[in-house]
This record gives sequence, structure tokens and C-alpha cells, in this order.
Amino acid sequence: MGSLQYIRRKFHNLTHPLLGRILMLHRVVEQRSEGENRELEITPEFLRRTIETYRQQGHRFVSIDEACDIISKGRTNHPFVCLTFDDGYQDNYDIAYPILKQMEVPFAIYVTTGFIDNRIPIRWYPNEKLGINTESLKTMDADPLCTIGVHTVSHPKLDNLSPQEQQKEIEQSLQELESFLGHPIHHFSYPHGTYNAETLSIINKQTFRSTLLAWGGNIRRGANPLMLPRIELRQP
Ligand SMILES: [Zn+2]
Repeated sequence: MGSLQYIRRKFHNLTHPLLGRILMLHRVVEQRSEGENRELEITPEFLRRTIETYRQQGHRFVSIDEACDIISKGRTNHPFVCLTFDDGYQDNYDIAYPILKQMEVPFAIYVTTGFIDNRIPIRWYPNEKLGINTESLKTMDADPLCTIGVHTVSHPKLDNLSPQEQQKEIEQSLQELESFLGHPIHHFSYPHGTYNAETLSIINKQTFRSTLLAWGGNIRRGANPLMLPRIELRQP
């Protein structure tokens, strides 16, 4: 990094203090796979250790709504950590949920509605049925620790779609999830973290409280709630 860039960054960080971070997770599994999907998977031990480490360092685990409150206030005494699970895997209920409940950690799950009950296949796990079932989703939705967000119908790269197709992916998933759970949904995450100007104009017409990217680092004062960066939690 050049020295001017370094000074600019330092200055930016002084005027935009750290508020916290939103971690992006996918699956929690006893046995990680060997191929490309390995980086989407962490073990239960790694999840526990991550939570303990953040707590030892003085971070506070918050729900996505509390994170939004802190971001709008622009200050916090303890940096927050918010756990978010994308896609809607059954192991989020079977393996992650008991740990999070025991350790009293709030979390959010961003569901691709087509994956519920494996109505459409998860393309990157072609030979497995890993989508969450309706009963598990409803059980977690009833728990105040859990927030359910939406992650489109079929997990496309939105920026590859026409505005009409994008609108369908976003609005249909929202309507499906809201009628299924019987309450409004306020949070969205972009599949693959991709979007274009059309996506943003569709997102802006909804009543989302936050929409999450798939990259981008820490959250600092002044962050845009409709463009929140995340940090992928990766197990070595
Ligand atoms: Zn996803």
C-alpha cells in the first residue's frame, strides 16, 4: 500500500470507527467434504471455538436487527459479531442450532425458498438433498434467537438476469417466505454477492431493513444497511 493510501485509510478509520462484523457461514458438518464445497463447511468444534474466541476478545454476539440498530446509532461499547447462514441447509438446524442455543448466540438464516424441502436441487451439491425442511424452519423461526431472511427462489447470479427475472426472484421468494412463516421478512442476502443497478432499484422498492453482500470486511460507522459487507468464516 502506498503511503498516501495508508494515511487515507488511517484517516477514514479514525472518522469511521469499527462497529463490528457480520460473518457469513453456510454449512456446519461433522465431516467436511474433500472437493470445492469444503470451503462452505465448518465443523461444530470450529463453530464453538470461533464463538469462544470472539467472546474472549470482548465482542458481543447480536441479532441482525441489533446490528442494524448499532449501525444506525453509529456507536457501540463492544464491537458486535453477527452470525449469518446462507442458503438454508438442514444441518443449520440439526448441528448448528443446538450449539447456538446452548451458547445463547443469536443468528440469522437466509433461505433460498426453492431449497425448502428440496423442491429444487442445490446445484453445487447435485447428489445430496441438503435443503432445510419446513418443520425445522418453523421451529427456528419461533425462537427469538433466530431471524429468517430471504436469499431468492433459485439462487441465481442476479446480475445475469433481466430486470423482470430479478424482480420475480426477489419478490416471489419474499412473498413465499412471508406467507409460509406468517410474518414480514426484513432481511435479504445477495446470492453469490452479485447485483447490478436493476437489483438495487428492486431492493429499494421493498421494505428490507438490511441487505447483505458476500464480501467486504468489517462494518464501520456510516455503513449503508442496504449494502452491508460481510466476512466469510472459513475453517483452514
Ligand atoms: Zn448463497
